[in-house]
Amino acid sequence: MIKLFLPPEELTTKQITITGEQARYLSLVHRIKPGEQLIIFDGLGNRYTCKILQSRKKEVIAEQMKKEPYSAESPIAITLAQGIAKGDKMDLIIQKSTELGIKKIIPLITKRTQIRHTDKTDRWRKIALSASQQSGRGKIPDVTEPVSFKEFFEKQETDRGIILSEEEKERNLKKILNDFQGAIEITLLVGPEGGFSKEEKSTAIQKGFVSVSLGPRILRTETAPITALSIIQYELGDMG
Ligand code: SAH
Repeated sequence: MIKLFLPPEELTTKQITITGEQARYLSLVHRIKPGEQLIIFDGLGNRYTCKILQSRKKEVIAEQMKKEPYSAESPIAITLAQGIAKGDKMDLIIQKSTELGIKKIIPLITKRTQIRHTDKTDRWRKIALSASQQSGRGKIPDVTEPVSFKEFFEKQETDRGIILSEEEKERNLKKILNDFQGAIEITLLVGPEGGFSKEEKSTAIQKGFVSVSLGPRILRTETAPITALSIIQYELGDMG
């Protein structure tokens, strides 16, 4: 079944008119036809089952059949603060972490990120939107504007923070998640290709983050969050 997000203010009438990119997505990408069903999410936790009345490139019209509460959200709210990776690796990280149920993604500018400035936020938000549609999430994760490492820690408030470090030899994720049983929020810090600097690691630890290993092999910056998220969802979320 094709799934789509629309802002709640566009869902107040029985007949819904879909325009712009979402109309193209339905009529050109999915070739949706009159009579077919469509699921629309309002991003606030409601699911609308609709029937297509008309499908054109610029305008798709659907009729609301049923509105019901819906949630595919994990019981654990995970924030990923990710050192901005090069090229299109961030696209992959955002897409996969959305599928894996991330709540919020903060692109981080660190000492070793090769990027100091980026205008990719809109693109990343679109990726989060389409990955949410595709994976049937009722909500779209929040992708913030990039922030510097310093700024991140000024605003940081979680009491359950993990910094992934390939240099950590003692503490593994399994052990830490055991201590985190019952947590409803976790913040995960992952370094860019070059990893975190010594100072960044000690700042994070000072702020109460625990340094955690994902085993003896060095994972790429895009593999680390996907792996950690899967494990957290398995241990504390809704995958187990
Ligand atoms: N600086 C390293 C690699 C960094 S990998 C080097 O070039 O040798 C990028 C990020 O992935 C790291 O900052 C860390 O957050 C995470 N990471 C990679 N492998 C990991 C592991 N085995 N355990 C924990 N975190 C890891």
